[in-house]
Amino acid sequence: MSNVKCDVLIIGAGPGGYAAAIRAGQLGLDTIVVEKQKPGGTCLNVGCIPSKALIHVADEFQNTTQYAQIDKNAHSDIGIEVKDPRIDLRKTLGWKNNIVKRLNQGVAGLLKRAGVRTITGSATLIDGKNVEIKTEAEDILVHCEKLVIASGSKPIEIPSLPFGGRVLSSTQALSLEEVPPTMAVIGGGYIGLELGMAYAKLGSKVSVFEAGSSLLPHFDDALVGHVQKSMTALGMGIHLNTHVKGINQETQDLICENANGEIINSIFDKVLVAAGRKAVTEGFSLESLMLDMDGNFIRIDNKCQTSMRGVYAVGDVTGEPMLAHRAIAQGEMVAEIIAGKNRIWDKRVIPAICFTDPEIVTAGMSLVEAQEDGHKNGFDVMAEIFPFAANGRAMTMESEEGFIQIIARSDNHVILGIHAVGGGVSELSASFALAIEMGARLEDIAATIHAHPTMGEAFQEAAMRTLGIALHI
Ligand code: FAD
Repeated sequence: MSNVKCDVLIIGAGPGGYAAAIRAGQLGLDTIVVEKQKPGGTCLNVGCIPSKALIHVADEFQNTTQYAQIDKNAHSDIGIEVKDPRIDLRKTLGWKNNIVKRLNQGVAGLLKRAGVRTITGSATLIDGKNVEIKTEAEDILVHCEKLVIASGSKPIEIPSLPFGGRVLSSTQALSLEEVPPTMAVIGGGYIGLELGMAYAKLGSKVSVFEAGSSLLPHFDDALVGHVQKSMTALGMGIHLNTHVKGINQETQDLICENANGEIINSIFDKVLVAAGRKAVTEGFSLESLMLDMDGNFIRIDNKCQTSMRGVYAVGDVTGEPMLAHRAIAQGEMVAEIIAGKNRIWDKRVIPAICFTDPEIVTAGMSLVEAQEDGHKNGFDVMAEIFPFAANGRAMTMESEEGFIQIIARSDNHVILGIHAVGGGVSELSASFALAIEMGARLEDIAATIHAHPTMGEAFQEAAMRTLGIALHI
């Protein structure tokens, strides 16, 4: 076994780990990152990027199919004619894998440029300063001054519906070579709906089974309603308050129980289980450090420090929201703290996006949360929406569905929450997060010239409308 020393050892090269490693390297720390799979982690290899690639292809295919249908009726409003579109999912897969490969290489290159040593292998903790790494060629004992755990998360398996055969995790659902004629999606969270809608657009007959009483439970009903309407228009089945019992091994039927206690048996070519994700805390002797935990997650303070001095944790392994941009921000901060900078987690907002159709963006408090906060802290709340139906750019993009909502304090007009549902609103998330992070007031947004014609103008108009001075409605 060879022995290696470094200032910082990072376990996992997902968004949390690689961001920490790049910044640590840039700051001159002798840094090693160990990754047992490929650089980029869940996000880049089997999460954010491949899912958005599939969603893009599904959108393109749906547009093409719609034009083909329009053509059949010898009527196309905008003059595009297409005949008999087909999807070759194997080619799609090749294209998607190529994007992932380019990004893998990109991350590897950034790590190298920052002077980080990347070890491909599996890390096992010995204590807070010593880690054993098994690589294909040899075992390496790394002694580090500071340790960062960025081991990420993995899909939750339902005991009665183990992965394998026709039962898929999100990872497998992103690598199908053919569009299944029918698909059940277990779980109405964002991963299930993003992938379910994509497959519905590609031609699958998709049904979503959700144990709770609503889809996307963390999002406001008014936002989710637009997605639900669009799912119905796509012919997707939606079964709320429905518990999945398992698969009948003889008939291969999916067995569910609905709210009335009725048992429903139906057969699906594929069953995607998207019932949430859990932290990766097993299989690398994490328990030997006896860290304080927060349920299944590693407990951290506002510097991402665990209960053991010199041991930090970032990303999905530390809890919700399990999002790549949170992991990156934590990783970058931890590297700076280790390098001696005075940093603390003081973010006001972590925006969240649902890449459904239409898309949903939320940043900051919902109306109910803001009202509760106001009740506790003695202020009233004001809120308004601006519909995309009144936005010129949305009309030209045939994307009039949805709205932007702004929620602010009534006393000083400081913006507390911004939410949107509509085609392409994901790209507005940056403006929303910036406004809240900078402590913007309604007047700041209302007085900022937003270029015309853009969907962003609906943001300015929502602020103006909340102030009672809207122009275009
Ligand atoms: P991960 O990305 O999970 O990386 C952890 C890494 O650690 C892995 O590569 C793993 O191999 C490695 N590792 C673990 N243990 C060891 C060990 N002992 N030794 C060596 N290596 C180890 N987030 C968004 O923000 N936007 C999205 O649109 C989005 N879409 C998603 C879609 C899907 C289908 C999925 C599944 C997730 C999506 N996410 C999205 C979530 C996002 O992928 C995660 O929040 C993000 O990847 C978390 O980063 P991380 O660094 O904490 O962990």
